[in-house]
Amino acid sequence: MAYACPKCGGAVTRNDSSAAGSVGGLVGALLAIAFAGFHCAKCGPIARADFPDEVRGQLLRNSLLLVVGALVVLVAAIAVVVALNH
Ligand SMILES: [Zn+2]
Repeated sequence: MAYACPKCGGAVTRNDSSAAGSVGGLVGALLAIAFAGFHCAKCGPIARADFPDEVRGQLLRNSLLLVVGALVVLVAAIAVVVALNH
């Protein structure tokens, strides 16, 4: 998913979080993506505040979806563990 850089109009990517894998597998990875910063190939790191309101709304929605996804995975994992222990 690419966003336009507010400064140069180029593609902005979410920062890769190499530490995510050690935090808690898939859940950690999703949460890390949800709260990761953004990076432009030309301008470097981009703050959320640099994006126009409309894009910030999109970013927030996508982050919430990732958090919800992480919670679903977590609940499913707990359900499996509980089921296996019976
Ligand atoms: Zn840029």
